[in-house]
Amino acid sequence: MLIYNTLAKQKEEFIPINPPNVNMYVCGPTVYDYFHIGNARSFIMADILRRYLEYKGYVVNYAMNITDVDDKIIKKANEEKKNAKEIAGTYISAFFDDLKKLKVKNASIYPKATDHIEEIIDMILKLEKNGIAYNVNGNVFYDVSKFTGYGKLSGKKIDELEAGARIEVNEEKKNPLDFALWKKAKEGELSWDSPWGKGRPGWHIECSAMSCKHLGETFDIHAGGNDLIFPHHENEIAQSEGATGKQFVKYWIHFGFLNINEEKMSKSLGNFFTARDILKLYSAEAIRLLFSQTHYRGPLEFSDELLKAAEKGLEKFSNLIDKINMELYTHPNSLQGEQGINPNINFERYVNNFEAAMDDDFNTPQAVAVLFDFVRDINKVIAENAKLSPEFYSGVKEFLFKTAQGVLGIVDLEKSEIQGSSIEKELIELLIQLRNEARKEKNFNLSDKIRERLKELGIELKDSKDGTTYKKVKK
Ligand code: AMP
Ligand code: ZN
Repeated sequence: MLIYNTLAKQKEEFIPINPPNVNMYVCGPTVYDYFHIGNARSFIMADILRRYLEYKGYVVNYAMNITDVDDKIIKKANEEKKNAKEIAGTYISAFFDDLKKLKVKNASIYPKATDHIEEIIDMILKLEKNGIAYNVNGNVFYDVSKFTGYGKLSGKKIDELEAGARIEVNEEKKNPLDFALWKKAKEGELSWDSPWGKGRPGWHIECSAMSCKHLGETFDIHAGGNDLIFPHHENEIAQSEGATGKQFVKYWIHFGFLNINEEKMSKSLGNFFTARDILKLYSAEAIRLLFSQTHYRGPLEFSDELLKAAEKGLEKFSNLIDKINMELYTHPNSLQGEQGINPNINFERYVNNFEAAMDDDFNTPQAVAVLFDFVRDINKVIAENAKLSPEFYSGVKEFLFKTAQGVLGIVDLEKSEIQGSSIEKELIELLIQLRNEARKEKNFNLSDKIRERLKELGIELKDSKDGTTYKKVKK
């Protein structure tokens, strides 16, 4: 499997440090507002990378940080006359809600900066001890001239960086590229005690400290949007390697921008749509299909038309899924394999093509093309044969389940599974309601009877904390 490594500036064979484990860190949100659909591109592509690694059999330990102390959060808190903690709390829960709606799988851990102040201070102390950090009146800076590898990720020399970067003038710094590790507290700001006095961490140090704590000093994959290569990720390398003396990350992965009218979507330019607003108009599957149709490293031009086209493309999948479910659930006889021919479909070929695409630096546009070819070929087989075997339909479903749903998340086989007329659905809902009433009255005899009789009719109930759902199963 090949991955384009920003550090090596080429595709490299993916060899994890300790297979089958893969440790992966992705820079997450600064929680001062709802995230926009550009941020969503990075979160969704990271999710697809992670899902594909799991598909390949890797055990992925996935950390995404939450920046919950930062200038932007403090500014918002001041504007809204709230404290920074309240602002962060509001947007952390919005962040989780929106990720769930986008069908992004939960990371293994979402470490927050404010929960890791001790680890952050420890790392700054190490840098101080190694002669790389200096304290000026309670502000601690990183001295980039002391780290010989500075610039290796962005591929730039220190003098070029100095000329190109917009760096704030700060008389306390020895070199304009030096960056803050610890910021002295201003009146009334959220702050913590430290060896340098009251203050708060700079942005870059949280990722070095938290990735080290949760994934180790050296780990496999670090990802984020292209805008983070410099200075954020360059600084993370300088901090982590400056503190430990070991290689920080093996593979650096960066996502291209989502653009609007050829300009990067961003809060500061004001040319953004929040993910939650887009989700009111389009399905998560359509958004994911649109993103998958562009390679993760390239730019993606965002528009209504493209989302509409993605929604249309999805109909090809949902029509096929409906057809399969009809066959599998409404003709229970066919489930006993009594009838129907088993056409000679080489599922393996499609699996191989899908994997070949994904193994080549996660070539999702190619993988999507394989899936559309698959749907077209299967539709042809269905049109040409009067009766096909349940094994054939199950095979089709299994392939889509593993690839289109499992890796790309562009279909939801469960969602399409509920067939039947609306009166059928209403009757099932009515029985569920009656069963819940029986349970409330502790009439378990009746509630069990309802469950069992429905099961005999091929309808299975599932209870969860969000209520009771049902699905059709083999009778
Ligand atoms: P932020 O909350 O701004 O720190 O961004 C969270 C993530 O979204 C980071 O990985 C950014 O690199 C990424 N990101 C921000 N804007 C865009 C964009 N227009 N397209 C793709 N990714 C973006
Ligand atoms: Zn980061």
